[in-house]
Amino acid sequence: MKKNITVLRGDGIGPEIVNEAIKVLDKIAEKFGHEFVYTDVLMGGCSIDEYGVPITDDGIEKCKSSDSVLLGAVGGPKWDNVDPSIRPEKALLKVRKELNLFANLRPTKLFPQLADASPLKPTVVENGIDLLIVRELTGGIYFGSRRTEEIDGQLVATDEMTYSEAEIERIGRVAFETALKRDKRLASVDKANVLDSSRLWRKVVEEVAKDYPEVTYEHMLVDNCAMQLVKDPAQFDVVLTENMFGDILSDEASQITGSIGMLASASLGDGTGPGLYEPIHGSAPDIAGQDKANPLATILSCAMLLRYDFGMNEEANAIETAVERVLDAGWRTGDIAGNGADLEAVKAAGKLVGTKRMGDLVIEML
Ligand code: NAD
Repeated sequence: MKKNITVLRGDGIGPEIVNEAIKVLDKIAEKFGHEFVYTDVLMGGCSIDEYGVPITDDGIEKCKSSDSVLLGAVGGPKWDNVDPSIRPEKALLKVRKELNLFANLRPTKLFPQLADASPLKPTVVENGIDLLIVRELTGGIYFGSRRTEEIDGQLVATDEMTYSEAEIERIGRVAFETALKRDKRLASVDKANVLDSSRLWRKVVEEVAKDYPEVTYEHMLVDNCAMQLVKDPAQFDVVLTENMFGDILSDEASQITGSIGMLASASLGDGTGPGLYEPIHGSAPDIAGQDKANPLATILSCAMLLRYDFGMNEEANAIETAVERVLDAGWRTGDIAGNGADLEAVKAAGKLVGTKRMGDLVIEML
């Protein structure tokens, strides 16, 4: 197959980790007989410096007309004080909106080789952590109307949280479809004891569930879900939730694996256009340009890209297996090498590696 991929390297460690991901994609192309054509588009601080905006209209068009979009990370201290209307994150929101990416899929997996990195007790993680959060991405309180006004001599701020039946149904279907391809268990998370939007959420999810009798599902209140994630994460397979709850729960879930440099994500639309694939971490300006960043989250994002945008399951599995093998063989970047005696042992074994070497190791395993 020949596929066009728009590449948004971004800022900080973005270009370094994307370079390694592209090396891996090229290896996959060679091994499986595909051709991937890359088009670079500036996004984030680098685009502000070049064009005065975090992404140009031409850049958006290039994303829209490609088969898939791969992103590193954007932002950094240099652009912290630019006008809020052109901040680097604005580009991210614009790409999501223009590509109609309403579903954010975040797999959260504790690699058994890195179990020590979890801040949870061994007795809690011994059953494994392998869950996937499906977060609604273009509705809810982040996109509702907001205002700050003076009422009776004091400022009053309002943010509105709105969901329509159609918005809930389309994300619900993505989650149930995803559950069908996994362990067929789904928890729909809301705050139906208080919020109207959550009561509608629950009603629509009930309807969608009727089309997926193979999937065992439950409703869970968001406060309980936040507790259960640290108490017994193994109980979760797919977690479906709205935009703000998903923002918070997915960060909590990522922390329980202890390895931010390992976690990938996909943002998907209705299947008629490209998805956006990126690591969940930011541009890590503290280690940028030092060959220290872990490229595995971006490489695993490429596995999602191949699976969801190109239907290349075998190729995606090959990348995931190669990453597992690299970890099995004891290779570590600094962020996953542990501390104290663990770190010293990795160093003594000569297995502490930088960004480029980690990319090369995945290619060797492929
Ligand atoms: P961050 O994720 O960039 O970094 C947090 C910590 O994790 C740092 O110590 C960093 O060195 C480390 N880290 C992150 N990724 C790593 C990797 N691949 N390998 C090794 N270590 C890694 O979060 P932050 O410091 O809060 O944000 C830095 C910048 O990134 C900010 O400008 C922020 O706005 C931006 N950001 C961008 C995105 C995105 O592009 N989607 C997401 C989050 C933050």
